[in-house]
Parts: sequence; C-alpha cells; structure tokens
Amino acid sequence: MANTYNPYENMLRVLESAARQLGLKPSDYEAIKYPERELKVAIPVRMDSGEIKVFEGYRVQHSSSRGPCKGGIRYHQQVDIDEVKALAAWMTFKCAVVNIPYGGAKGAVKVDPSHLSNAELERVTRRFTAAILPIIGPEKDIPAPDVNTNAEVMGWIMDTYSMIHGYAVPGVVTGKPLEIGGSLGRPEATGRGVSIITQEILKRLNMPEKGVRIAIQGMGNVGGVSAKLLHEMGHKIVAVSDARGGLYHPEGLDIPAALKYMAAHGGSLEGYAGGGAANISNAELLACDCDALIPCALENQITEANANAVQAKLIVEGANGPTTVEADGILTGKGVTIVPDILANAGGVVVSYFEWVQNIQELTWEEDQINETLRKVLINSFSQVLNIVNESKVSFRVAAYMLAISKLVKAKKSRGVFP
Ligand code: NAD
Repeated sequence: MANTYNPYENMLRVLESAARQLGLKPSDYEAIKYPERELKVAIPVRMDSGEIKVFEGYRVQHSSSRGPCKGGIRYHQQVDIDEVKALAAWMTFKCAVVNIPYGGAKGAVKVDPSHLSNAELERVTRRFTAAILPIIGPEKDIPAPDVNTNAEVMGWIMDTYSMIHGYAVPGVVTGKPLEIGGSLGRPEATGRGVSIITQEILKRLNMPEKGVRIAIQGMGNVGGVSAKLLHEMGHKIVAVSDARGGLYHPEGLDIPAALKYMAAHGGSLEGYAGGGAANISNAELLACDCDALIPCALENQITEANANAVQAKLIVEGANGPTTVEADGILTGKGVTIVPDILANAGGVVVSYFEWVQNIQELTWEEDQINETLRKVLINSFSQVLNIVNESKVSFRVAAYMLAISKLVKAKKSRGVFP
C-alpha cells in the first residue's frame, strides 16, 4: 500500500541476500531486479449517474523467463506501481518455488470497489481488460483473482477478451466461474495450500497437529478458507478479522458460524457477536496470545513497530508481503519461524495452472485429482525449501528465494540474452 514501506525495495533486499547465499555474481541475477514490462492505463468509465470518472490501472510483467506471465488483479484505493511491481516479482518467485512453468505478473486498478455498483464494477473491469488486452492472453499473461476481485470479475475479463477476438478464450484468465472453464478446487486453493503448509511446518517444529491456537488476519478468500480448513483439522482459531476489526476467543471461535454470518452480510464480520468473543482491532489481533499467526490481508502489516509485540511462535504468510524486512529480522531474532508468502500461499497459482492446463487441453479434472496433485506439489516444494534451510542454515524465506532464484538464473542462462 502507499506507505513508508516500499514493497519493491523489500523484495530487492531479500533477493540480494538469497543471491549472496547462492554465491551468484551480480551479472547472474541483474535482469531479475527489473520488471520486463510495466503498463499504466487510464480507465474512463460512465458511472450510474451519467458522470465520467477516470481510474488508473496497471499491469506489470516481471518475468517470462520460465513461461507465460501469471498473476492476479487487485482492486484497491491505495494501490500504487511499486506495490504492483513487488507483487509481480513475488509471482515470478512463487511459480519457480512450486516449479510451475510460468513467470510472474500482477495487475491493479486504483479504486475502492465498495463505492461502485455492480454495473459500474463490470464497466471498470471490461474497460481495464480492453486497455491491457495487447499484453494479455493464454500464451502471454494470464490474470487471476486477488484482493477485491473474484470469479464474477474473471468472467467479465474472459468475456471481454473473447468478444474482441471473436471466439471463446477460456485460458486467458483463471479463477473463472465453473460454467465457463473454471476449475473445481480453485476458489479454495490458496486457503487449502495455507492449511497444507501449516500442517507441514507444525510437524517439523514438533508442534501438535491439532489444537494449535491460531490467529488469522483477513477473512476474505484466503483467510476465510484457511480458517475453515484449519478449524476442520482440529485447530482452535482464536482470532479472525476483516478490514473493520476482529474477534478474539481464547477457547477458539465457531468458524462455521462466523462464515455463515459473513455469507449473509456481504462478506463482512461487522456486527457478529461470536459467542462471547471480545472485539479486537487488527493491531490487537497481530499481538494476541496465540501459537500461530496467519496474516491473510495486505502487505506491510508486521513492521518494526509491532514485531516485538507478536506472541506467536510461527507465522504462515497467507497474504503477499505481510512482513517487512525489518520485522522479519526482529522476529527471526526472537526465534519465530516464518513460512514466506511465496511458499505458503502458492496453492492458488498451482490450481490456476491446473485450470489453464484444462482450458488449453479442453478437458476437465475431478476435484479429488486437483486437491491431491496440489498437496503433492506443495509438500514436495516445502521439503525442497526445508532441505535448503537445513543445509545452508538460512531462514525459510531466504531458502525459498534461493530455490526460486537458482531456477530463474538457470532458465535465463539456457535462453541467453536476446539479441
Ligand atoms: P479478499 O479481498 O478476498 O480478502 C481480503 C481480506 O482482508 C478481507 O477480509 C478484508 O476485509 C481484509 N482486509 C482488507 N484490508 C485490511 C486491513 N487493512 N486490515 C485487516 N484486514 C484487511 O483478498 P484475498 O484474495 O483473500 O487476498 C488476501 C491476500 O492474499 C492478499 O495479500 C493477496 O495478494 C494474497 N493472495 C491471494 C490469492 C488468491 O488466490 N486470492 C493467492 C495468493 C495470495
């Protein structure tokens, strides 16, 4: 978000330390420091009142070295180009960590969608799609949902792209509704991945596989599904929140009831009593008494200002970039284990890849096959990162970057420098 922490600078600092660990020469990874392409577009939209408003939109393609670019589209009033550049680079590293043949991209529109009608949201989406159309496509760059976008928005993107091309192109976007080529398992995939990775790290830390007290910041697609699945696995979800604030219950919240309330109240927790739970702020959630903290909202939530207050022994990053570099140092110094975003929330892009594969091959997979293959991919990636942690005595974050960068550097070497 537009604040004092520049997420792109954060990304570069982690990249440098991982490259040093790998013993790379600066020229080996120089190109990874720059996005391949940055597009900024103006989006004029006729509002319901008849007035024309112009929004700003972005699509950044960080790398196509390992395959077509891939990454979500975010609608947020505070988004800026540095945030989108960082998110695009994280996608490149994430796809490399889980070894799917994609590069990284990200897009955004600077808009607060809660102030738009559904018809206005559709017009913003269709005009944005038209504006970025020259650089997207199933072989070039494939968008997906991110903060404040969903399957309905992906459906409008697919339709706009298809109408302009004159035929249906389902593979241009993932996270679509099922009836136009969406995949079973995609809506839950990121949260499912977070829950799989959480179980893996709990085992390695010799923490119990049930009954762990977990706090989750953000109850959207990622946080809501993570809460549901971790609750079903027998953990105690002691705190949850959305942008307006949260709830804490030391004995664990009734997650199915919270999700049911949210489904009936436009996805908001506001007004939910939570069976004797205390109302807390997002700042209090991050510092609450719990064993594990799973931030699933936005970047730069855990900073040097609040890292010392964190009581959790384990952080699993459901969100992208929730921990600043300074906070990471403080937490690691306190002995907190952090499973980084590029591994912890990779489940979404893995199933997006399965969706795209189904689209371009014109076939469909069963949900069990999707969930089982997702589990295999994530457990395999987790154990590769863990091996680097053990061999190189580095944090999970640096290890995940080392795995990603070594794959990227090899891909770049194999391709050579054009012309
Ligand atoms: P979403 O829009 O579905 O949900 C976001 C949640 O965060 C909502 O509950 C919202 O109220 C809450 N929130 C917003 N601002 C907040 C704030 N300032 N403090 C606390 N809570 C706040 O978004 P999502 O798709 O769940 O994405 C959440 C995070 O996960 C983002 O960092 C996103 O980039 C990342 N992510 C998403 C996916 C995916 O497949 N959707 C995949 C990988 C990573």
